[in-house]
Amino acid sequence: MARVLFINAGSEGHINPTIGVVQELISRGEEVVYFTIEAFRERMEETGAIVRTLDDQQFIKAFISGGRDYLLERVNGLLLSADIVIPSVLEQIKGEHFDYIIHDSMFGCGRLLAQILNLPAITSCTSFAQTKESFDQIMERFYTEAPAEIVKAVDDRFQSLTVKIKEQYGVQIHSPYEVFCNPAPLTIVYTTREFQPYGEAFDPSYKFVGPSISSRLTPDHFELSAIKGKDLIYISMGTVFNQASDFYKLCFEAFGNTDHTIVMSIGNKVQIYDLGEFPHNFIVKNYVPQTDILQSTKIFITHGGMNSAHEGLYYGVPLIVIPQSADQPVIAEQVVNIGAGIRLQMQGLTATELREAVERVLTLPSFQNAVAMTKDSFRTSGGAHQAVDEIFEWKRQYHG
Ligand code: UDP
Repeated sequence: MARVLFINAGSEGHINPTIGVVQELISRGEEVVYFTIEAFRERMEETGAIVRTLDDQQFIKAFISGGRDYLLERVNGLLLSADIVIPSVLEQIKGEHFDYIIHDSMFGCGRLLAQILNLPAITSCTSFAQTKESFDQIMERFYTEAPAEIVKAVDDRFQSLTVKIKEQYGVQIHSPYEVFCNPAPLTIVYTTREFQPYGEAFDPSYKFVGPSISSRLTPDHFELSAIKGKDLIYISMGTVFNQASDFYKLCFEAFGNTDHTIVMSIGNKVQIYDLGEFPHNFIVKNYVPQTDILQSTKIFITHGGMNSAHEGLYYGVPLIVIPQSADQPVIAEQVVNIGAGIRLQMQGLTATELREAVERVLTLPSFQNAVAMTKDSFRTSGGAHQAVDEIFEWKRQYHG
């Protein structure tokens, strides 16, 4: 049995794929100490992990204070979160022994913690993986295209933060890429190499294990029996960029009083009553059991979060992707590339456009065929089980 330190963040998208991995690690005899935020304690304790928490408000405040306009500002935000994450983790594991660390590919200062604790490290990558070359290209554009005074200010801040971290924790940061992507000798990516853009560019230390989808606690306010046997349209903009009242109202206009039954998850930033009266064929909630609902869904209108896209395709559901931010435009592009759905722009979107997109996807067989192929490849890729096979293989090599 080994003791595993798992460092993660406080967002659904980064947590959900790890649930099955932690369950599988524990079923094969590992003990897992899992860091997340209080909101996910119950979900992670269900897996059998020992859960410890980080202060999410302080974390978000630090991260956002880096700025949000440029990639290097987000890197600075991650560096600023070091003073929230690192002392808290070190304090909470004082005197304990760990054999290896698994850390998120973005949040939690995982690579820094691995260095400080001198632990063999694995990266858990819940979005598409990124090579250093493609990351550096984005950085290069920032250095050449952003206004000179902004470049200087943001770069100066990066330099001073790295100096501070070296002084404080005795670890060296060589590049923004290290901070943003937290590379490690083994990276578990929860998608297939075929779905990953430029999948062939990644060396064998990247293991594309496919979507890791496992059952989660069902929120008790949702009556699954109410949708049993129905052919649903499911709409969700995910858990982060979901403040989209106008869009939700547009959906009422597009599909209200039609033969479709619609389940719409609006997140917790919009109040249901703020949307006014809604059509009788809509079920509107702040949060729904998405993976259960997708199993009765004929089309998924999504923001294109990595998990949502995976979950939809895993259950054989074609997608209409309306990307909002972050990695979503890239995911939308991949969905279109494989023929599993349509991409729409939020800006200027009309009810007619939305309705026609749904009709097109439902009537053209090419979408169903592409989805069926992707579903097969996702299901045969192994998911959490394969992830733990890879981790155990890596352990064997590491320990000889
Ligand atoms: N989710 C859910 N119920 C909801 C909305 C979202 O269970 O009502 C889950 C969804 O199944 C997925 C995650 O939250 O696993 C959202 O992750 P994704 O990467 O799609 O988007 P994000 O929320 O990070 O933008």
